[in-house]
Amino acid sequence: MNNYDVIIVGGGPAGFTAGIYAARGGVKVAIFTGLQPGGQAALTHKIENFSGVKDAEGYLLVNTMMEQAISFGAEVLYSSIEEVDFSGEEKRLVSDDGETYYSKAVIIATGAKNKLIGLENEKDLIGKGVSFCATCDGGFFKNKSVAVNGGGDTALTEALYLSNICSEVYLIHRRQGFRAAQILIDRVKSNPKIKLVLDSVVTSLRGEPLQSIGILNKETGEKKDISVSALFVAIGYLPNTDVFKGKVNLNERDYIPTNNKMETNLEGVFAAGDVRDTPMRQVITACADGAIAANSALDYLISR
Ligand SMILES: Cc1cc2nc3c(=O)[nH]c(=O)nc-3n(C[C@H](O)[C@H](O)[C@H](O)COP(=O)(O)OP(=O)(O)OC[C@H]3O[C@@H](n4cnc5c(N)ncnc54)[C@H](O)[C@@H]3O)c2cc1C
Repeated sequence: MNNYDVIIVGGGPAGFTAGIYAARGGVKVAIFTGLQPGGQAALTHKIENFSGVKDAEGYLLVNTMMEQAISFGAEVLYSSIEEVDFSGEEKRLVSDDGETYYSKAVIIATGAKNKLIGLENEKDLIGKGVSFCATCDGGFFKNKSVAVNGGGDTALTEALYLSNICSEVYLIHRRQGFRAAQILIDRVKSNPKIKLVLDSVVTSLRGEPLQSIGILNKETGEKKDISVSALFVAIGYLPNTDVFKGKVNLNERDYIPTNNKMETNLEGVFAAGDVRDTPMRQVITACADGAIAANSALDYLISR
């Protein structure tokens, strides 16, 4: 019953797209979604760069991918994989509800999670003012003053989203220049509600729930406190590869290296999406990876 041809670990754009291609290939497929069905894309209020779909709502886009995979026969299981053994030809995976699953091929599509700033009380304040998702938590801070930390696409998108809800948004970034799409930079700079705090880092969090944050300007050495009800942290990601450490090759930052067929160093084990050592982490690239990984898994099943 728990035997599959392809098990996909991860239920985001990469995992569901791999599910569409693998199930359409006529093999028995299971997709484990873990704690976040839909992945990061489901937390994104608006995706305007997925080719062919204008102004997609992240949740709807990825939910449609899931329905598409199910329509071709993929099974979706809402558990996390906690243990793997890839040493034999038959791969063994154990879920958090204690079930053991076997598969001929595995596609790892576990994506990434937000990086923490590393402040002492940061973890304690999650849910009490510290957040990693404006779409999820922005509504709690209606007409309040908030801050976003980061300087990439995600940080700027979060700041723009919050500017529609909150009274003011401080955008704190450690450099002068942003590493984001020019269209987002232009929107942020022309938004009267977004106040740029550049060359600066967040050094402390005060109050529980959060009431203010300490800021240090790295160029001038100036320190100041800003009163905010929330801090949205968007300073980058860490791959979800803890389960695979020592089981499959990881690079120095714990991402999974693959070739252009999404093959890892192990026969029958593939990786796709944000978890992979790749120059671009977006929904469209995750989907493309998923399609290639599934195709390679199908080839592998034929060649066994
Ligand atoms: C706020 C925000 C805004 C963004 N905006 C855009 C945008 O506008 N356009 C764009 O193209 N991209 C955007 N992105 C990036 C995009 O969401 C990601 O690149 C994409 O979701 C990656 O897909 P993925 O399937 O590789 O991984 P993820 O979406 O991270 O999905 C990973 C999946 O793996 C599951 N998982 C993890 N560990 C386990 C385990 N042990 N067992 C089982 N399952 C597990 C998770 O629960 C999840 O379902 C944004 C991201 C964020 C956070």
